[in-house]
Amino acid sequence: MSRSFLPFTGNPLDRASEWRGNSAWLAEQRARSDARVLPFLDLQPLLIGPESGEQTRLGFLTGAQAARFGAPDAQEVFLGLEDGIAHFACDISGFAAARAALDDIGHFREARGASARIPFGEIAILGQAKALLDWHARHGFCARCGVATHSQDGGYRRHCGSCGSDHFPRTDPAVIMLVTDGDRCLLARNRRFATGNVHSTLAGFVEPGESIEEAVRREVMEEVGIRTGAVRYFASQPWPFPSSLMIGCYAEAESRDIRIDGIEIVAARWMGRALVRRMIAGEDSADIALPRREAIAFHLIRNWAEE
Ligand SMILES: [Zn+2]
Repeated sequence: MSRSFLPFTGNPLDRASEWRGNSAWLAEQRARSDARVLPFLDLQPLLIGPESGEQTRLGFLTGAQAARFGAPDAQEVFLGLEDGIAHFACDISGFAAARAALDDIGHFREARGASARIPFGEIAILGQAKALLDWHARHGFCARCGVATHSQDGGYRRHCGSCGSDHFPRTDPAVIMLVTDGDRCLLARNRRFATGNVHSTLAGFVEPGESIEEAVRREVMEEVGIRTGAVRYFASQPWPFPSSLMIGCYAEAESRDIRIDGIEIVAARWMGRALVRRMIAGEDSADIALPRREAIAFHLIRNWAEE
């Protein structure tokens, strides 16, 4: 089964990682008039098209356009190649002239909202660019000696000239799991879901020294007090808020009594497969809402309901 239905997957760019270390090649690609450069302002991508409606695209400028508003010290990252054309993202936060020059071209929108309005392949490009620029914005200094570091390898490494350390963009693995018990699954309401009585899967970060399976079992026990056994992998989804990789799993229940932690989880219940199927079809609500379709949680639930 193809997993490329998950938003933030299916990036059409060839990351061309073998070229990243070649700074002369990168400079040559960036100098081409047909290079593509996507500006970000405070981690919000430039969009081109109407501010409402669905004809919106990522606001990639040509190299020639981007050269005109010049922000030479802005952090740039190399995203990859498409049809031989190099794509970059550029953080223009703090460059007022660059921002002003873009007013007539498009508008900036926060990444989560933007991802709901652009073509599927562009969502993955947005995720890649946003996660990288976010990392640069927060990791300007060496974690070892405190001195300012410099971007290398097209933005995939920061080097400390003082102590020689290299620092790499981080990705934080998180498990997200649907607990099942035969024809029932467990849906829970997280305190962070402010409105709509959304019930979803459980989730949590993988800790150092922990396997995916161990993280799944620990989080389920912590949040709802249920012991789980077999863990089965489903699919994964990059989630650039700010830098997670959501690892979707199914976990088989070995105990049934729910004991919510009351801290992260404020409600949880077992739901029958037939009911969940009707909820997905919009025929029944059971007084709760399912997670949004852009999230892997929804796909975990739907895939199980249709098994
Ligand atoms: Zn250092």
